[in-house]
Amino acid sequence: MQRQGLLIVISGPSGAGKGTICKALLQKNKDLKISVSCTTRSPREGEREGINYYFVSKEKFEDMIEKNEFLEYATVYGNYYGTPRKYVEEELKKGNDVILEIDIQGALMVKERYPEGVFIFILPPSMEELKNRIIKRGSETEDSLNTRFTAAFEEIKYMSKYDYAVVNDYVDEAVKKIECIIVAEKCKCNRMLRAGYFEQEG
Ligand code: 5GP
Repeated sequence: MQRQGLLIVISGPSGAGKGTICKALLQKNKDLKISVSCTTRSPREGEREGINYYFVSKEKFEDMIEKNEFLEYATVYGNYYGTPRKYVEEELKKGNDVILEIDIQGALMVKERYPEGVFIFILPPSMEELKNRIIKRGSETEDSLNTRFTAAFEEIKYMSKYDYAVVNDYVDEAVKKIECIIVAEKCKCNRMLRAGYFEQEG
């Protein structure tokens, strides 16, 4: 019997620290897989093709939408972002747990298509801290900063659609909580039954 992997969606407002948490989570848990998204935005300094994102043209992205190659996609701050379907489906089938670090629109789309996923909402310690983190990132223009603040306030409202909320005050603590969530999810009776645990062989 081959257990399906767990699809773990980590989402939340920009600046909550999803990226930092995912990086630390993957460093500690070598068996976890992360899906690398496609985006039409330009690479930031230090970002690498195939590691942070697959950087593609708008035409290429739209062609991929047309061919149904995305599990989900969304327009975030004027650029397309999407999760390539093939990698995720193959890894889950192999029994590997897969992390998606995506925005809220995308997470809601995945929830509709894949309700057995685990949906984790990352919260900043406070809205003030969220502002500071977005400013510190330093890669934004004044306009895009304001857009991100406004979006973040709106996005917090979607927390109720998720299974878990994790406050990112200390990264190590947040990672520990996510590890606990993964363990608990794997012990859920309906998952064990779906995986065929108590079925007779032959
Ligand atoms: P950034 O431009 O800062 O890397 O990402 C902007 C936002 O897009 C973040 O909230 C990030 O989580 C989200 N994002 C990254 N990849 C994807 C994706 O494949 N799908 C969706 N829906 N959002 C994504």
